[in-house]
Amino acid sequence: MKVLVPVKRVVDYNVKIRVKADGSGVDIANVKMSMNPFDEIANEQAIRLKEAGTAEEVVAVSLGGPKCQETLRTALAMGADRAIHVESEAELQPLAVAKLLKAVVEKERPRLVILGKQAIDDDSNQTAQMLAALLGWSQATFVSKLTIDGDEARCSREVDEGIEKLEVTLPAILSVDLRLNEPRYASLPNIMKAKKKPIDKLTPEDLGVDVTPRLVYTRFEEPPKRKAGVRVASVDELVDKLKTEAGVL
Ligand code: AMP
Repeated sequence: MKVLVPVKRVVDYNVKIRVKADGSGVDIANVKMSMNPFDEIANEQAIRLKEAGTAEEVVAVSLGGPKCQETLRTALAMGADRAIHVESEAELQPLAVAKLLKAVVEKERPRLVILGKQAIDDDSNQTAQMLAALLGWSQATFVSKLTIDGDEARCSREVDEGIEKLEVTLPAILSVDLRLNEPRYASLPNIMKAKKKPIDKLTPEDLGVDVTPRLVYTRFEEPPKRKAGVRVASVDELVDKLKTEAGVL
């Protein structure tokens, strides 16, 4: 079984993001970029499936500018076998990403695509669902536990009431949540080995996909600054403040 893992290059989760002065977007000049954390989890899961003998090949794919190659090298250093870079300088919104991934799926014919549940830059949480719909494949989102048994993927997902258990038939699209696993760090020898692994290049034109944006972001603003809290000396004081000042009791 081949597993495809889409990995996005995003602003590192430790960076405190700044909105551009004109409100047109987030300032990413000179900002540390990394693999989307949920995609690290997706890649880790695919590699574990390979180590368990369930998968034969793990292919990482990234869509975007030339620097996506760094993200792909990280995926390869973690253990993916090869990579595909769909190079485009255009703003790639989730629908365009899903259409490009559909074209890659048709070319590569994986049985499983494992994505992050959301990209932490735009927080869209749309790509996996759109890809499943475009392909007409089964989907399980926010997967926090996974076992593959023949043609079935047994998935647990965290929902408000507890854990929901699903069985989806392959081929399938899975999107993964934080608790699925703890991604490994790439060791130095594996980073060196990854430099020799192949990265194929494609463009949206090669794949016949129109990536014109469909959404217009009108304005970005910083969230209002939170007021400093107060420390109370006792539970009685807290209850009194909740009654008299906050008016919530
Ligand atoms: P989103 O729907 O934008 O929140 O993204 C969900 C998931 O889709 C991410 O965690 C990635 O696995 C995948 N994805 C989104 N954009 C890209 C991209 N430009 N390149 C590779 N994978 C992507």
